[in-house]
Amino acid sequence: MTFADLANPGIVTQPIYEPGKPIETVARELGLDPAGIIKLASNENPHGPSPKGLAAAQRALQDAHLYPDGGYFALRQKLAAKFALGMDQFVIGDGSNELLELLGHAFLSPGKECVMHQSAFVVYKLVALMFGAKPVEVPLAAGLRQDLPALLAAITPATRLIFLATPANPVGVANSAEEIATLIRALPPHVILVMDEAYIEYLENPPDLRPFIAEGRKVVCLRTFSKIYGLASLRIGYGYAAKELIAILQRARQPFNVNAIAAAAATAALDDEEFVARCRRENFAGLAQLAAGFKALGLEFVPGKGNFVLAKVGDGPAVFEALQRLGVITRPVKGYGLPEWLRVTVGTKTQNERLLAGLKTVLKL
Ligand SMILES: *Cc1c(COP(=O)(O)O)cnc(C)c1O
Repeated sequence: MTFADLANPGIVTQPIYEPGKPIETVARELGLDPAGIIKLASNENPHGPSPKGLAAAQRALQDAHLYPDGGYFALRQKLAAKFALGMDQFVIGDGSNELLELLGHAFLSPGKECVMHQSAFVVYKLVALMFGAKPVEVPLAAGLRQDLPALLAAITPATRLIFLATPANPVGVANSAEEIATLIRALPPHVILVMDEAYIEYLENPPDLRPFIAEGRKVVCLRTFSKIYGLASLRIGYGYAAKELIAILQRARQPFNVNAIAAAAATAALDDEEFVARCRRENFAGLAQLAAGFKALGLEFVPGKGNFVLAKVGDGPAVFEALQRLGVITRPVKGYGLPEWLRVTVGTKTQNERLLAGLKTVLKL
């Protein structure tokens, strides 16, 4: 009997998530100076952590010997005020990825199905497989756009969750509020829409799903502090939904699933409106800079609405490797069925210039 024989079904064949390469790893592998490497691979905030969040995290470290408030009262209270929802409508997660897993714990098991797009954020599929449920992947429409009527059409009596992100990662496209409303109104009563709002703060006119939650529609929205708030390393996100759904997710989590440093940082970062506004402005400028750069190089790209862009570079993995040797880490998306594309995070102006210069060199344009 091997350990694999003893493991639960599905766990041994569970695919492994491939994260963006850390700067230290690339430096070690290629013998480069880490200080000269830029990482545009994981949609992190190039402007660093929210200053208010950072200061609060530093203060919270003084109490590192104490367990966190496992109810995350201060954070939920602030979220409730910000969203004009009840405190009992929020659950805090160890990154929004944990919330995806909690949804799996609560609603998925062998025989159940989850609907998502092809080339959707891979964690959706990983969560489905983890709980023995079947991931049903729906093709994207032309231009790598998300096809919401096709998601609806893929629903069967076994479907429990639909995973959808706007803007989507890695494709970057966003869906209109009307399209999303149509999807929600058509949901049968046995299906929950999981709306992944990881990049929603970057949108000019973000869709607001709170009216649907108030109406009793089965929708749960997930957000993160990893992106515009710049706290990816601390691992914290939140979900909001009907209090009945949130109560179920609260039972599915560990008592202290989020550490107190992260909770303090997130609570303070919510007040950092100036930082968030600046990051959003810089991101719009960066998207425009990259779009102009890709056009000048004659490269096709998807005009993404998040803090990253997909560019068509030919052999994605080869260009990724070549850029890495120049100290620019990007993200190949071959694993998402997009072998010709590369995903690049919007960096600072200088970082974007370096990426564009690197592409020009590597592609001999
Ligand atoms: C980055 C990202 C998240 C957030 O993950 P965390 O676990 O909160 O860091 C969620 N969904 C998508 C689509 C993402 O790209």
